[in-house]
Order: sequence, then C-alpha cells, then structure tokens
Amino acid sequence: MKEHSFNPESLMMTYGYKPELSEGAIKCPIFQTSTFVFKTAEEGKAFFELAYGLREKTAKEELGLIYSRINNPNLEILENRLCLWDKADDCAVFESGMSAISTVLLEFLKPGDLLVYSNPLYGGTDHFIHHFLNKIGVHTIGIMPDHSIDQVEEMIEASGKADKLAMIYLETPANPTNHIVDIEKFSQLAACYSKDENKPLLVVDNTYMGPLWQHPLQCGADLVVYSATKYIGGHSDLIAGAVLGSSELMIRVKTLRTFLGNMVSPNTAWLLLRSLETLKVRMDQQTHNAQVIAEYLENHPKVEKVYYLGLLKENTDEYLTYTKQCSAPGAMVSFDIVGGEKEAFTFLNNLKLMKLAVSLGGTESLAQHPKTMTHAGVNEEQQRQMNVTNKLVRLSIGVESSKDLIWDLEQSLEKVKTPKLEVEIVM
Ligand SMILES: *Cc1c(COP(=O)(O)O)cnc(C)c1O
Repeated sequence: MKEHSFNPESLMMTYGYKPELSEGAIKCPIFQTSTFVFKTAEEGKAFFELAYGLREKTAKEELGLIYSRINNPNLEILENRLCLWDKADDCAVFESGMSAISTVLLEFLKPGDLLVYSNPLYGGTDHFIHHFLNKIGVHTIGIMPDHSIDQVEEMIEASGKADKLAMIYLETPANPTNHIVDIEKFSQLAACYSKDENKPLLVVDNTYMGPLWQHPLQCGADLVVYSATKYIGGHSDLIAGAVLGSSELMIRVKTLRTFLGNMVSPNTAWLLLRSLETLKVRMDQQTHNAQVIAEYLENHPKVEKVYYLGLLKENTDEYLTYTKQCSAPGAMVSFDIVGGEKEAFTFLNNLKLMKLAVSLGGTESLAQHPKTMTHAGVNEEQQRQMNVTNKLVRLSIGVESSKDLIWDLEQSLEKVKTPKLEVEIVM
C-alpha cells in the first residue's frame, strides 16, 4: 500500500490517546487531578530538569506529567489534536480567548516596543491594548481597513519607533463586517523590519475562521490565536482559548502560562476534545447555511447591503486575498437593514428560531446589533470608518436547516416597516 496521511477530521477521535494507559477506555477519561505520582525520585528530578529548562531533552525523552498547572493529559491530547488543523509544531490551551491573547502580548512586548494592529479588533483585545499595554509604555499604531500596506509602512516610519517594532497583530476577516486583510503581505512587512536583534512577530487572531477555513501559519504568521469559545468549542457551553506556532515561540508562551496559571481546566479540555470530533461537519454545515442565507438577504428589498465573503465580486483586491488565504467564506453574515436602529431592533425582537445574543461559532444561530452591543465601546468616528452603523445586524449561522432559518428571517423582516415605504404610503 502507498503511504497515506489522514485528514485532521479523521484523527479527531483517536490521535494522541493511548487506550492501554486508561484501562482500555475508548474515550479519554477526564484526568481530574492536581498532581501526578512519580515512579522514583530520579524520575521526578528528571521531569523537573526539563520543566525548568535546566538541561536539553534527550532524543527519546518527553516531558513527564508533574502537576496540572504545568501539564495534564487532557490538555496535551487537545493541544496535539489542534496542531493537526494548523500544521503547527505546538499549541497551548488557555482558560479563555482573552487569556491566550493577553499572554501572547505580555510575553512578546515590553515597555518601549511598538505594536502595530489592525482595526477593528475584538473589544477585549482593544481594551487590553489601550488600557494596559499603553499604560506600561508600549507604543501602538492602529491601522484602518482602508489603509494600504504602503501607508502602514509610512506610519511605522513616521512614528520614529521603526527599530522597536516588535509585533504586528491582525484580525482577519474582521468582526463584524468581514473586512479581509492580506496576511502574506503583512508577513513580508514584518520581514522588512527584521534584524538580528529584533524580529517583529506576526500574530493573527483566527477566531472568525476557526481552524478550518484559514491557516495563518501557512500564510507566514508566526503565531495564531483563537477564542476556542467560538467554533472550536462550538456549542456555546464553555470559555477557552488557544495559541499555536513554532516550538521555539511556544516554549515561551507555555512558560508564561505556567506562571500566570491561566491554563484550561481538565474538564473544559475534555469538552473541547468532544467538540473537535464534529468540528468539520459542524463548520461545513454552518458555511453552507451562511452562503444560502447571504444570497437570500442580498435579494431582500428590506436589506441594503450584505457583508459576506461568499458574495465578494471576482477580481476585486478583497476577492483575490480571499481566494489566496481562505478555503470557505465562513459562517458570519452581517447586513445593513433599510432604516436604522428602530428597524434593526424590530427585526431582532421578532426572530423566533435565532436567538438574540453575542458570541459566535456555536451550533445555534445568533443575531445581534454590533453598534449597541459588541462594538458599543468603539468611538463613533471609528465605528463610522468600520461601517458599524445603526442599521448593521450581525448573524452567526448555526447548523439548523437553512429552510427554517430563512423562514425565520422572512417572518421577522416582514414585521419591519421600512421608513421609505411609510413615506410612499403618506404620499
Ligand atoms: C470572543 C473573541 C475573543 C475573546 O475570547 P474569549 O474566549 O471570550 O475570551 C477574541 N477574539 C475574537 C475574534 C473573538 O470573537
């Protein structure tokens, strides 16, 4: 037989787990334990030498189990499985997406450094940058969706801190409008500023595309971060995060995690292992539904504009970037309703199957109003630049029947009285 390499979805049930170590159990048990028994004192000594980096690993050696803040089988198996999707050397799982993100920012930035980041960012990340990193003296440059790569370079030069550029942090496609950024171009920009003593890192928050539809490490990113609360968890029943990248960088991430103590619990890791078994089928169904819904909305008279990657016009820059770095258009659909807040709220209040809630990526469809909910903290001027207006509604599409979802959209849009129609009636 020819050599065969399995697709990640085929390995999510078994990879990295040895039943013979757990009484033959087909499924990995929850290792609900704080500490692990050493066979001998010599073994305990050897494990600690590796854990504390006191000596190099020998070829056959693996870090033994010591204490659940350092390592635990549920976390290790989960991390090994997550590595398969992004083809990463190593992964670290965290108790939230925010703890994954803040740990990366803390480990690779220090006072005096320059951080360049894309707007709009997830609200929590934006807050951490402006209310914590700025306070400790990290300089920042926020780039807007309409800035070209040349303009970004000019802004870096004009800051006078180009030699201190330590990180470029991107979120693409951006929440809530699906604006897309070319990861490869930014990796080339980071490389331009790379010198022996200073190598700026490119970090990408890939939450919006899950680990399935976009692989930033393959496009030149150094680290990829996730809120595993979203597609990876996928059932809206847990909070978790993950970071993936090269062994060299991940040692640093994992070391800081050990001392901040913000690793995920064995119980949550176990739930995530269960979630990963259906990641591919869930996400396939979600993106299929999202495309059907986006096309339906695009043709609806009460909808002004739909923001969805599956509707990008061929040969536009965005389309070319999309086809280069994404394998599917995702399952986040935003749209401008004809009208404003009143019309958007009428629509949201009348949904019967979709729930009115923030968060995304779960099996159930959700709807929300970014301007007054997820993006309420963003200043007016930036909201306007990002097309976050009163008429914008964001949908996270789930695994339901697309026919039922469309029925729900239809009946709810029917209840919306568009201001223009009223004027016509008056006349
Ligand atoms: C939700 C989210 C986060 C934060 O993750 P938590 O798990 O809520 O801490 C970060 N980035 C993006 C893009 C998100 O959607």
